[in-house]
Amino acid sequence: SPLGRSPAGGLSVFVTDRSPVACYIGIGSNLEDPQAQVHKALDDLHGLPESLLVATSALYRSVPMGPPDQPDYINAVARVDTQLEAAELLRELQTIEQRAGRERTVKWGPRVLDLDLLIYGNERIAEDGLEVPHPGIRERNFVLLPLLSVAPDLEIPGLGPVQQLADAAGHEGIVRLD
Ligand code: ADP
Ligand code: MG
Repeated sequence: SPLGRSPAGGLSVFVTDRSPVACYIGIGSNLEDPQAQVHKALDDLHGLPESLLVATSALYRSVPMGPPDQPDYINAVARVDTQLEAAELLRELQTIEQRAGRERTVKWGPRVLDLDLLIYGNERIAEDGLEVPHPGIRERNFVLLPLLSVAPDLEIPGLGPVQQLADAAGHEGIVRLD
């Protein structure tokens, strides 16, 4: 309904009849108090329009994938159910990155905040500036381990069960924080 009543009768963030799409977002930071950056990002995801933050993983610490002379990363994954289109959601994520002070410089270099749209429902998208599932998922244990923890039964479109991919990626260079 236009008032956004949920089936249970409460107010809902979903204001149209469009079915929400289950999405997974990868969060990474290795500058300017990375743990605080990730917590702030989770807060910002909570505030996304037409979206519900459904689950968040623990935080993980991982060694950098790119140039080695940079600080360790803090990583996490969030599940967000959203009525936004994939491209709209990516724009919202980029706005959050920019608000955090993200500057795009060296490829895989240090960053205050990186938000990747890992998965958008069952969709496979290959557009200019938007590839889903995110092309880095398969070999990145700092994505797969937190993703596995929030969605153990997930089938990643085109790639297979998250459990299998996580087993293959292993635990090298990553620890779960408590
Ligand atoms: P990376 O995350 O690979 O280190 P960036 O965060 O700098 O790199 O992103 C580079 C570009 O990746 C962005 O301009 C964005 O348009 C593009 N991109 C393509 N698919 C995605 C996706 N699924 N999630 C986030 N960015 C994406
Ligand atoms: Mg990115």
